Amino acid sequence: METLVLNAGWQPVARIPWQRAITLLFLGKVELVEEYEDKTIRSVTFEVKMPSVVRFLRMLKRRKPVIRFSRENVYARDLGRCQYCGRNVTRAEATYDHVIPRSKGGGTHWENIVIACVPCNQAKGGMTPEQARMRLLTAPVKPTKLPQTLRFTFTWQKGMPSTWKNWLRDLTYWHGSLEED
Ligand SMILES: [Zn+2]
Repeated sequence: METLVLNAGWQPVARIPWQRAITLLFLGKVELVEEYEDKTIRSVTFEVKMPSVVRFLRMLKRRKPVIRFSRENVYARDLGRCQYCGRNVTRAEATYDHVIPRSKGGGTHWENIVIACVPCNQAKGGMTPEQARMRLLTAPVKPTKLPQTLRFTFTWQKGMPSTWKNWLRDLTYWHGSLEED
């Protein structure tokens, strides 16, 4: 089980293993916002409900952003578009393609991973782009910054704890246009 972490301003910033959340609670760094009603943690000395949502009590210091090599960040770098046909793909649909296939010595790193739609990934198979006669939209590089709009787009999806729903917007929120009031 995971715990959703909110910053002091009540915005979702991370999901962490519940064990880590317990540690942060004991250290007094976070407060409990929601718990899993049906999951109790028992030890010799205590019995608590498993934390579902916690919130940092203080504003986090901004650290120099390190762009982690992760699926989410590759997706953001590639602007959510299949790098072969240019079609927009959702996170759930996106596949992560080794440009130079692993079987041909291609590594798993920023310069060799792009997102691809399922049809393109299947068409490419175990071939290089040249062999498959497919062209990349852009050469994959390690990004120095990511488009803000695509970072931390925490959305509530089926299968996530229902207690997170209050704190996560759904996809229509993120992709809908802003209206002025
Ligand atoms: Zn495609």
